[in-house]
Amino acid sequence: MASSAPSSARQVKLERECELRIEVGENSPLRLRLLSGTAEIFGTEIPPEIWLNFPPRLKFAIFTWHGATIEMDGGADTSDYVADETPMISYVNVHAVLEARRNRAKACSSGDSDSSQGPRVIVVGPTDSGKSTLSRMLLSWAAKQGWKPTFVDLDVGQGSITVPGCIAATPIEMPIDPVEGIPLEMPLVYFYGHITPSQLFCGLCSNNIELYKVLVKELAQTLERQFAGNAESRAAGMVINTMGWIEGVGYEEKLCSMLRDVLKSKPKVDVVKLQKSGGVVSRTPKYRQKSRGHRIREYFYGLANDLSPHSNVANFSDLSVYRIGGGPQAPRSALPIGAEPAADPTRVVAVNISQDLLHLVLAVSFAKEPEEIISSNVAGFIYITDVDVQRKKLTYLAPSAGEPPSRILILGTLAWLES
Ligand code: ATP
Repeated sequence: MASSAPSSARQVKLERECELRIEVGENSPLRLRLLSGTAEIFGTEIPPEIWLNFPPRLKFAIFTWHGATIEMDGGADTSDYVADETPMISYVNVHAVLEARRNRAKACSSGDSDSSQGPRVIVVGPTDSGKSTLSRMLLSWAAKQGWKPTFVDLDVGQGSITVPGCIAATPIEMPIDPVEGIPLEMPLVYFYGHITPSQLFCGLCSNNIELYKVLVKELAQTLERQFAGNAESRAAGMVINTMGWIEGVGYEEKLCSMLRDVLKSKPKVDVVKLQKSGGVVSRTPKYRQKSRGHRIREYFYGLANDLSPHSNVANFSDLSVYRIGGGPQAPRSALPIGAEPAADPTRVVAVNISQDLLHLVLAVSFAKEPEEIISSNVAGFIYITDVDVQRKKLTYLAPSAGEPPSRILILGTLAWLES
């Protein structure tokens, strides 16, 4: 039964095709419920009459196709306003086209591999243009209709599937929960280790874009193998979110025509230009850094502090730590005459355990041997909380007690200060 409204609550009436844009304040969470009509948050329908809790700092919109009344309570420093102009019609039109392609693929699922392939959508654009939000909507609308599309997140900066510094994929079986986000059941995760593709690396300026490309290829091959054996997920297709890492100012405007140009030899690829929603909130570098910290915290402790990570101690000799690329370059004297020294961006280098590891987040690889590291996905992450060089002991936080699934750890530059 619905609980009664507290005295501090207020109601907002939304006309059809309008949205209520909300930024929950820094300090107090917000509760709200749908009193009448129908409404959704980024493609996921809100259940009627149930109070939903939103944590501080969350930015989102409640959109209604046919009209709704919302009741809000708490969140003293929350800001909100109603907008009647949104690009939602064009977004749902894209969904309708994708839906038709999924149905066509399903009907051909016993036929050749090309026609049984559902739509593969890649969302590109500058930072803060609403790419993750559009990806979410397309996935949730598809899931609502019973499909299990695959979400692929190539954005190493934010980490909507797992911690930042990774590229990952996971099937979406239900509309995405507006607060909890993407379910973390069995994601396929590759650890890149940095939050941008070009990174200052251990004092060396190393461009790791090659490693990024190699990992994207590995992820693509693994997904391709999975789709080959699963007609259902093949027909449902993929939505791929990218990072806003597009070169140069002004490129933003040119992106669409540039893509059309590059892809004109591929008749099966459609380039669709969509409008950015006026509700998308720009985030400062400081805000992004903070939200990366929150993502890492959430991995270990859960969104509502509902997980109990374990502090473990291991001998240095029980673990092998590697980093990929950026290793010391071969001295000129060791190279053939005329060859220029260059750091191999995909070379796996063993790392001595030292104080330098303190406060870093390391990935636990599924690799059995160092040679397998690049082609292996990762099982999870640990966070280094103490390095005792004298006793050769390492203390780390892990999601659970006991031995990690592998002794091979990958190091990048992903750091976190637990607060
Ligand atoms: P990045 O390049 O960092 O990955 P992005 O292009 O993926 O950014 P989003 O993450 O989709 O952008 O959106 C930026 C922020 O704006 C998010 O916090 C999102 O929840 C919020 N947002 C998006 N659309 C709306 C809207 N219509 N109303 C209110 N907030 C919104």
